[in-house]
Amino acid sequence: MVLSLRKQRSRSIKVLKILLGSLALAVLLFTVYLFFSLRLPLGADPAGNRLRRIKASPNYQNGRFVNTLPTDIMQPGTTWKTVLMWLGSERRVPPAPLPVVFQNARSFAQKPASGLRITWLGHATFLVELDGQVILTDPVLGERASPLPWIGAKRLHPLPVSLADLPPLDAVVISHDHYDHLDCDSIRGLLPKTKRFIVPLGIGVHLERWGVPADRIVELNWWEESSLPGQVRLVATPARHYSGRFLKRDNTLWASWALVGPKHRIYFGGDSGMSAGEFKTIGEKLGPFDYTLIKIGAYGQTWPDIHITPEEAVLVHSLVQGKVLVPAHWGTFNLAFHAWDDPIKRLQAAARRGKVPLAIPKPGEPLGPDNPSPLAPRKAIERGYTSDGTDLRGFYR
Ligand code: ZN
Ligand code: ZN
Repeated sequence: MVLSLRKQRSRSIKVLKILLGSLALAVLLFTVYLFFSLRLPLGADPAGNRLRRIKASPNYQNGRFVNTLPTDIMQPGTTWKTVLMWLGSERRVPPAPLPVVFQNARSFAQKPASGLRITWLGHATFLVELDGQVILTDPVLGERASPLPWIGAKRLHPLPVSLADLPPLDAVVISHDHYDHLDCDSIRGLLPKTKRFIVPLGIGVHLERWGVPADRIVELNWWEESSLPGQVRLVATPARHYSGRFLKRDNTLWASWALVGPKHRIYFGGDSGMSAGEFKTIGEKLGPFDYTLIKIGAYGQTWPDIHITPEEAVLVHSLVQGKVLVPAHWGTFNLAFHAWDDPIKRLQAAARRGKVPLAIPKPGEPLGPDNPSPLAPRKAIERGYTSDGTDLRGFYR
């Protein structure tokens, strides 16, 4: 009896050892997998000459980039409130994907007669054809806004054009290094067709890590600019936000952009909280803008400093002296706790109150003087676009 108990115990210990050994092996293999999978997407840390230039930036203090206004990423003491928001029951993804207008290589072969065409590819990715130059903003072309293919915000509508069918790009412009704006695979895929990458200070370190030659990267502080052929200027303008791809925060700069051509001007807002004085200065120095591409989604009550609300988007549009507002950063990735359609509904109400003209393209639908359709009243779209009982069939109107 004693012998069999002892035998049983030694067998249990053996099983436990095998289990623990397997667990340790699984953890080790997973760590190795993570190391190799994240090695590129996480990017790198600025060093050498780049770091020296960063340290000389007026926006860099005590080892990190800072906003002009005091800024909390999350309001202090609001963790529980945020958790409760996270637990909310809003419908955060559309009941069906947004309707997409698919494009192919032929779509872009014909240049816009007016010199201006804007094609929203989803989230903050816009193909802007501006006075002869072709510019792509914040390309995130993959299935997820994430460094890993199986976790993180998943795309809610298909990409309207394949990477292969995108036209040759005179410039890729980046607003900041968050995953929903700067994507390793997209940058690597675009490299063969992109002449230059124009980015806020510090972000070049990620691009170089991903194989972009240093002589094709232009890194700018706020109010610095880069010239493209045809007298097109890309000016890095302020934004109120933050940066970081992993543990380190704020080691690269964030920006909004003024795309200034001889005939047309576009404002691309990137990600930002409210900073009325800076937006007003952008308008005074570089406006008026034919179109403003401004984020309307991903806001939350406990992080008001770093993400504007739809109502503030209308205010930003007015401050920078925009003519037509095009909403960005909604409908493509679910990144916050509001209902998926809350941004567009609130934007439409605020724009009506502020008498601000909106153009709300479908993903892939071209916009501009030659394509006035998204400005015109639109027929109700497919049935079933309802959220929390609200009939949204007319929301493109
Ligand atoms: Zn961001
Ligand atoms: Zn974002």
